[in-house]
Amino acid sequence: MRSISCGVITRFAPSPTGWLHAGHAYAAWVAWRMAMHGGGEMLLRHEDIDFSRVREEYYGAIEEDLRWLGVAWPEPVWRQSQRGAAYVAALEQLREAGLVYPCFCTRKEIAAEWARMGQAPQMGDEMEGVIYPGTCRDLSESERNERLERGDAHAWRLNVGEAARRWGGLYFYDRRFGKIAVDGQHSGDVVVARKDIGAAYHLAVVVDDAAQGVTLASRGEDLLGATHVHRILQIALDLPELEYLHHPLVLDQEGKRLAKRHDALSLRSMRAMGQKPEQCWAAAEKWLRGFL
Ligand code: GLU
Repeated sequence: MRSISCGVITRFAPSPTGWLHAGHAYAAWVAWRMAMHGGGEMLLRHEDIDFSRVREEYYGAIEEDLRWLGVAWPEPVWRQSQRGAAYVAALEQLREAGLVYPCFCTRKEIAAEWARMGQAPQMGDEMEGVIYPGTCRDLSESERNERLERGDAHAWRLNVGEAARRWGGLYFYDRRFGKIAVDGQHSGDVVVARKDIGAAYHLAVVVDDAAQGVTLASRGEDLLGATHVHRILQIALDLPELEYLHHPLVLDQEGKRLAKRHDALSLRSMRAMGQKPEQCWAAAEKWLRGFL
């Protein structure tokens, strides 16, 4: 299951919640070319833990679009939905290390807490949204245990302040932006296990990148903020450090990031209109010149 290549291992990690679009083609091409250039391989991983948004038909459609684009990957393709035990074990490790705490807040309560502090909610990284104001971090041990025993619904949050106390001076390396100092406060106390699904993006990505032997994670620059969290989780879970390459995003005519709602820019519509794969990867190829 782990890559056996000793070259550069990258991954393309879409969520099967819609058709792939021009932005995904860009990301997949960057991952593929960096792997080929480094004599390794690109892995494909379906990030499908958000069960309510995933649809079965998208798994096959994603793979079909990628083949058309001209990229390849080894089998079996990983699905995060089958990796629950690994995420539970990682969460347990964080819990034992005293780096996470249960959070019983609803979104509404988080918004109300920001209002009470007289501030507009501060935004964290792309995946996290609003920064958590820290309400449940300060619960007493007895209140925490009482609520857990009562079975109150809760997420688990990473205590980034505690992480900073233990590991000051962390860095990560991005091939485009260079050496970046980790700032845990950038995204705040992110959720590492959601109430409903027992895992969350940040934890799943870090655990899987390590388990799959990924050496270079390429992804859109909108996720640069998340990398601060990922570096902390790697240290906390004693996992190897990766290199990163955060690439530019494909924007629409109004300068907005492409989303699944841009149906006309889905790869399948482009294909139906007779576009050639080269037209879909040309921009990525041009940008990659500085890195190959
Ligand atoms: N699944 C994420 C997305 O579709 C990618 C996450 C990553 O590359 O770390 O945006």
